[in-house]
Amino acid sequence: MLLHHRLLPRLLLLPSTHTSTSTLLRPSRLPRRLFLSPRFSALSHLAAPETVDQSDNEGATHEDVQVKLPLDRLFVPPGATVDAGNQEAVSARVLKGSNIVLGPYARGDAQVVNADFVKSSVRPDDCPRDGLPEFALVGRSNVGKSSLLNSLVRRKRLALTSKKPGKTQCINHFKVNDSWYLVDLPGYGYASAPQEARTNWDEFTRNYFLSRENLVSVFLLIDASIPAKKIDLDYASWLGQNKVPMTLVFTKCDKRKKKKNGGRRPEENVETFQSLIREYFEAAPPWIMTSSVTNQGRDEILLHMSQLRNYWLKH
Ligand code: GDP
Repeated sequence: MLLHHRLLPRLLLLPSTHTSTSTLLRPSRLPRRLFLSPRFSALSHLAAPETVDQSDNEGATHEDVQVKLPLDRLFVPPGATVDAGNQEAVSARVLKGSNIVLGPYARGDAQVVNADFVKSSVRPDDCPRDGLPEFALVGRSNVGKSSLLNSLVRRKRLALTSKKPGKTQCINHFKVNDSWYLVDLPGYGYASAPQEARTNWDEFTRNYFLSRENLVSVFLLIDASIPAKKIDLDYASWLGQNKVPMTLVFTKCDKRKKKKNGGRRPEENVETFQSLIREYFEAAPPWIMTSSVTNQGRDEILLHMSQLRNYWLKH
């Protein structure tokens, strides 16, 4: 099923054969010239123009770290274009700790003013029908989904609703600023769950992904403090193959294991995860590094949601 309103990603069943950088940088729909509106300028302080050599950043905090990415690995949001001949200017518009270029649709409405639990649904058909745009959070159990949700809305216990007995297998809708939804989906990969229950949850969430018309993007949470897990790689490629727009949210990026103990840094796990899924995507999906302990990535996720949402509302 192809949902025409959807933005990204575009999946190739075969490895990408692109050779032209400019092709890769063009967003999937309606490319437009990027303009620096006053609003855009006001937000651009959140981007980190500086890049650092990460070869030895043991002990570095997330404020220090900005990966220098080649242009073809950046996510250019719909409605934005970049000048491939001016990498410095492009880098200055990349949200910190991510590959996401800030475009003209990011607005001052990014911050959460209020958020309320609306309902738990046991079937996609039971979900709210008001047509407001929504973003779904999904990930392996214990990945930090509830912590991230609470961090995004700056409430300590809002996501507890999703953890109440009977709600963990539900689609839980939280309305933000009375105008869009954050959706908490059942976690996957519970080792202790019976096989039958696991299959049902999978089918249930897959149906939601495929049928929910107002789903702007899935936010797939991946624990960056541990090496890539097969179940996460499978999930990412399933979303890609089904053309469900996806943002990779790497969690627990504050957990920095000592290299000498064999631990890998979050940046290394992030890089490996992407290289393992790259062949399935024509263009790089958006990704962002986060921590619910330091709130790394919180403002950046909200800006990313803002620009996807505002583009979606206009098209
Ligand atoms: P969920 O099952 O996906 O909802 O995960 P939770 O939000 O309940 O988090 C699972 C565990 O990971 C808890 O012990 C959290 O304190 C911890 N955790 C969650 N996010 C982070 C993070 O960003 N950094 C660190 N260090 N721990 C985290």
